[in-house]
Amino acid sequence: MPEETVGYVELEWTCTHCGTKNPGQAQTCTGCGAPMSDSQKFDLPSQQKLITEQNELANAAAGPDIHCPFCGTRNPTGTTHCSHCGGDLTGGAVRTQGEVLGAFDTAPKPDLKCPYCGTMNSASELKCSHCGAALQAPVAPKPAAPVARKGIGVVPIIILGLVIVACAAFFILSAHTSNAVGVVRLLSWQRSIAIMEQKPVQHKDWKDQVPSDAKLGTCQQQVRRTQDQPGPNTQKVCGTAFTKNLGNGAGQVVQSCHYNVMDDYCDYTVNEWVKVDAVVAKGNDTNPQWPSTNFNSGQREGNRDETYKVTFDADGKSYSYSPHDAQEFILYRPGSRWTLTVNGLGAVTSVTAMK
Ligand SMILES: [Zn+2]
Ligand SMILES: [Zn+2]
Ligand SMILES: [Zn+2]
Repeated sequence: MPEETVGYVELEWTCTHCGTKNPGQAQTCTGCGAPMSDSQKFDLPSQQKLITEQNELANAAAGPDIHCPFCGTRNPTGTTHCSHCGGDLTGGAVRTQGEVLGAFDTAPKPDLKCPYCGTMNSASELKCSHCGAALQAPVAPKPAAPVARKGIGVVPIIILGLVIVACAAFFILSAHTSNAVGVVRLLSWQRSIAIMEQKPVQHKDWKDQVPSDAKLGTCQQQVRRTQDQPGPNTQKVCGTAFTKNLGNGAGQVVQSCHYNVMDDYCDYTVNEWVKVDAVVAKGNDTNPQWPSTNFNSGQREGNRDETYKVTFDADGKSYSYSPHDAQEFILYRPGSRWTLTVNGLGAVTSVTAMK
């Protein structure tokens, strides 16, 4: 996302010698006269506002300041000799720039009470208008301490234990098999054929993707994609503006913006083959049949389904088994005897002819 410049704001710095807050442009402390050293950082002021003065804007955009290698004084970019001692600035430390200082917020801030004399001062003041003391922005309340984590309770451990035991039992029982002689007692089969009909079915898609034979319904403008440049049917969307340090007492307010490309997203209906009914045949013999079909005009045959079930009696118990297909099913003549492989859960896993 490309970054756009919203404007520039003046920053501030706090003197480490006397605690005075100074406007970003001040190269020496307005309280004690100490120069701003290169280790001191610029901060966002309590009350942010965009710079409108032309030469301040030009200074802000010029580039980071340079600290004199002899006396430490801050000098604007482009100067060759220190304004304080006249020393050559070649090789002086260039202030860092580009750090994000915080969100851009010009909402009026509440007045600040002087900690020394109690005078109320506007949030844009750096010093008390009455006594000259440094003013501090109110300290934000600390977030509540996170609630101490309790140990894992006993109940979840018991439940977890039971689940593990159940899983283990399942695997052991399903792996453990035994053989039994089964007699075919009951057969059942079911075959069905779906009946299809053309019906209007509703879908949604971008207007240019709607099939030409479809009936177009209502359309809504929606975001189809995003891009960096404006274009036909675009909407500009910007993120939160924030301020970056410029290294010269000013901050650059930037925001990331992109363009949403809007397009018509539409309901449409097309005729599709839909299952409207099914014909079913069932029986309890070894002669499965497909049901007879009788299509109305505009209908056609759909999917065919078949299921088969055999019930064996073995050792006084009843076992249910599903043959894979009709070919296998018709082998199980009523009363015939088969070797069943039964697992620990009572399920028939395979059936083989008796030797
Ligand atoms: Zn000072
Ligand atoms: Zn100097
Ligand atoms: Zn005061």
